[in-house]
Amino acid sequence: MKASDAANAALIHVLEDEPEIGRLICTTLEEYGFRSELSGSGRQFLLRARQTSPELCIVDLGLPDMDGMQVVRELQERQPCAVLILTGRNDVTDRVLGLELGADDYLVKPFEPRELVARVRSILRRYLRNPNRDDDSTEPQFAAFASWRFDTQRLMLTAPDGREVHLSAAEAGLLKTLLRRPNKILNREQLLGERDVDPFDRSIDVRISRLRRKLEEDPQDPRIIKTVYGAGYMLTASVDWS
Ligand code: CA
Repeated sequence: MKASDAANAALIHVLEDEPEIGRLICTTLEEYGFRSELSGSGRQFLLRARQTSPELCIVDLGLPDMDGMQVVRELQERQPCAVLILTGRNDVTDRVLGLELGADDYLVKPFEPRELVARVRSILRRYLRNPNRDDDSTEPQFAAFASWRFDTQRLMLTAPDGREVHLSAAEAGLLKTLLRRPNKILNREQLLGERDVDPFDRSIDVRISRLRRKLEEDPQDPRIIKTVYGAGYMLTASVDWS
């Protein structure tokens, strides 16, 4: 299974200023068949990310030259890709903010190399199926729902007031899944498109909460994407595809 996993050929760019940790991460990734690149500073990382177009970046938030949050923000603007954040145990606020900025998951230091690899695989499996890469040209491009309009090609939402909201590839993939089956409860497996969902994988909840921040008037009292406790999530709107 390991070797046949298509995601394993992916290039993973690691931003970690502590050389020993950075080398350990890269060695681990390579042992599992990934390609890796290591940068020790935010500036170098952003430059190289643009040159090499990695599938996934692993970003340590505690950096000497730049705010790790700023790095994630600039990365998502210039070179959108999957992001796994590494953070210290006490940086809860940073961690949450990082996910809102468009990271796909986080890992708290210190972590087991095997856990890192499991997270990386899980993110890549989802990301490599994202709507940018799928060949679903037969599907209509636009979905209208609850006075919103979603352009599945540009990954752009247009709000009822005409404001445009850009979605990350991971957010867009999740929204598409919800829009394809409106008014039905979708469980985590259905939302992730995977059978064996890691019970510790909270990335669905993270992406749902990011989508709500973009879509809902009051993200604390969501009306479009409802939580069905113990079952999953449901998009409560009629959807017109065109
Ligand atoms: Ca650091």
